[in-house]
Amino acid sequence: MSLLEGRVAAVTGGARGIGFAIAEAFVREGARVVVGDLNPGDAHRKLGADRVRAVPCDVTRAADVEALLATARAEFGPVDVMVNNAGITRDATMRTMTEDDFDQVIAVHLKGTWHGTRLAAAIMREQGHGSIVNISSLSGKVGMAGQTNYSAAKAGIVGLTKAAAKEVARFGVRVNAIRPGLIRTPMTTAMPEKVWDRKMAEIPMARAGEVEEVAKVALFLASDLSSYMTGTTLEVTGGRFM
Ligand code: NDP
Repeated sequence: MSLLEGRVAAVTGGARGIGFAIAEAFVREGARVVVGDLNPGDAHRKLGADRVRAVPCDVTRAADVEALLATARAEFGPVDVMVNNAGITRDATMRTMTEDDFDQVIAVHLKGTWHGTRLAAAIMREQGHGSIVNISSLSGKVGMAGQTNYSAAKAGIVGLTKAAAKEVARFGVRVNAIRPGLIRTPMTTAMPEKVWDRKMAEIPMARAGEVEEVAKVALFLASDLSSYMTGTTLEVTGGRFM
């Protein structure tokens, strides 16, 4: 039997990059998936239209996340799996970072993950089961220069994950996080070659990760393979900053 047979999942930021790969892996394992993204485009057609829906969703707005979960319920049933993946970067050193750059990154990552976690958890505790997977970052573990906003948000997601895990564990709902390192996506391939090479030199496995390698870990946390795990953060980093 497939790992997510009969399960319903929602994935934010699922139109491309890591979120798309997660949605793809979930569909392959039997799930029906609703993708929420600022511009969902034709994600549902690329992923297999009968088992996938794609809706516009800005995770900074609670009403949008509620609508994403309502679509899942109306089309496929209440969510069993929620992946809070949507993300942006607004990198700059503190000398030049604007307050708006700070606020936007906190809003998308931290507040967006809070909306997704609390709204999905409310549905899952009624069912007595569910798995929430939050996407943090190595940046939240070690802090990266030029990313005071992003590092703060991603570290915050780990704290949020643990606090939420403690609140809902007794209702059968698990909350875990993933801390990816350098993964090849539109977000990272946009960086200057010099910066990319510097990061590569820090990775014991001497290569960037692929989106499918994060998706496999999301699948593990979403499925019953991780049935006795909650409040954890798994690193997918090729050994970087272990
Ligand atoms: P991408 O930029 O490739 O994809 C992110 C997706 O999120 C885009 O489709 C984007 O839409 C969407 N998005 C942005 N803002 C919002 C919003 N407010 N509401 C809903 N969707 C939104 O990024 P990655 O796939 O690389 O990153 C995915 C996650 O993984 C992020 O949380 C990121 O921080 C994290 N991560 C990535 C790493 C990497 O090396 N790539 C490393 C560590 C963590 P649009 O394109 O329209 O802006």
